[in-house]
Amino acid sequence: MIIMDRKYSFSDVYNTGIDDDKLHEECGVFALFSRDNHDVSGLTYYSLYALQHRGQESVGIAVNDNGTIVYHKDMGLASEVFDNVMLEHLKGQMAIGHVRYSASGAGKRENLQPVVVKYKRGQLALAHNGSIVNAAELRSKLEENGAIFQSTSDTELMVNLISRYRVTSSSTEEAIQKMMNDIQGSYAIVVLTTNKVIGIRDPHGIRPLCIGKLDNSFILASESCAIDAIGGEFVRNVNPGEIVVISRDGLQSIQTEVPVESKLCIFEYIYFARPDSVIDGVSVHRARIEAGRRLAIEHPVDADLVIGVPDGGTDAAIGFSRESGIPFGYGLLKNKYVGRTFIQPNQALREVGAKIKYNVIRDEIEGKRIVMIDDSIVRGTTTRRIVQMLKNAGAKEVHLRISSPPFRYPCYFGVDVSSGKELVAAERSVSEINEMIGTDSLAYLSLEGLLKTPIGSAFGFCTGCFNGKYPIEIPKNENEFDNK
Ligand code: AMP
Repeated sequence: MIIMDRKYSFSDVYNTGIDDDKLHEECGVFALFSRDNHDVSGLTYYSLYALQHRGQESVGIAVNDNGTIVYHKDMGLASEVFDNVMLEHLKGQMAIGHVRYSASGAGKRENLQPVVVKYKRGQLALAHNGSIVNAAELRSKLEENGAIFQSTSDTELMVNLISRYRVTSSSTEEAIQKMMNDIQGSYAIVVLTTNKVIGIRDPHGIRPLCIGKLDNSFILASESCAIDAIGGEFVRNVNPGEIVVISRDGLQSIQTEVPVESKLCIFEYIYFARPDSVIDGVSVHRARIEAGRRLAIEHPVDADLVIGVPDGGTDAAIGFSRESGIPFGYGLLKNKYVGRTFIQPNQALREVGAKIKYNVIRDEIEGKRIVMIDDSIVRGTTTRRIVQMLKNAGAKEVHLRISSPPFRYPCYFGVDVSSGKELVAAERSVSEINEMIGTDSLAYLSLEGLLKTPIGSAFGFCTGCFNGKYPIEIPKNENEFDNK
């Protein structure tokens, strides 16, 4: 196995201390099994570019070259971590890739993905999007039996479980099925073995995963935009609880016996996914446009201009404008070269990040009554600052309309809000938030309204962040909100 890590720092060598932080990761995964002699690392690199919105902290690619897995992973964007020389080294016939952002555990190299291991049956690489809620318990059981871990990641735990079950199973898929009986939580996983690529979606389908085709080859990706990016064709979604096995012989599906109930994260449509993606049969762009329309019906306001907070609020702002007849304009400019505000690992850096991220187009705003549309308010920090900017630029009034319900409860399944305490809506009424962020009026789309959009025609949803009802029971030690 060739390990190609370029940038070692002092902390890489000495920072092996494990903290008890649970990783809440927002990630993107990708896999390609080429039966057509493609440049798999190059195509994986492009696809990770297309998935970069799902995580900008680190990126990794593992490639299978005639049965040997080689990989490279590092902190940074795809364009920073990979160059031609590196991609030249990653030659092979199958690949998996990963982009990652995590809040806690941030900056720790041992949590980079894909996790690549050697074990009794050969080599294995695994990349994961989601969060395993009973990880602490499973990990502790393994440790009681002498297992050791290098990281705090769920990914390493899963690799450990698969490798153990593989010893007594006839195939990796069988070992994966056994692992699925143990783990609870959200997972969209891609696995690379010495001769297969495997995709897995949790029994509730909380995180998205879809299948694509490129010539005679198969693709797995968190979002369809990654398939489009390399000229592939969308085939279908991986079903909740489904294991998809891709080998030389083609694609085989195993529907696990675990009960299947779709509970896709509703936040995928609201915020995470790219508008050009189609998730579980519904166009993200159309869902957002319609959410904006419903918002205009539920909470109309007299105003001169509708603006969206880019990028998440733009589609809904177009919908609001179409429904209300109030013209849509570009009042806010987003610096495209700054990552998401949340990417900064601490509050101090986040504050600086927000300042360079947005600016107001004064000419468009001055003297006008503005309706500003955003997809969500999480901590309220960015929103308050933007409202202030608009007022400073001469806006007569700023009315904020949010195209989703108040984000009141923590997420245990992959959205980076592990503690309810951070959420501005957790213990405040809408009018208190309105006062706090300095808007002239504030209103949120109702959950019923949101489900009347095309989103409602998809399968079932996890709406835990809005109503505290989670599809899976949260173990007590995970439920920080209850403990505080
Ligand atoms: P704030 O006012 O600080 O709560 O920031 C609100 C902005 O955060 C909105 O524009 C949302 O689009 C964005 N947002 C929502 N969820 C997330 C998330 N999980 N990570 C990063 N940004 C988010």
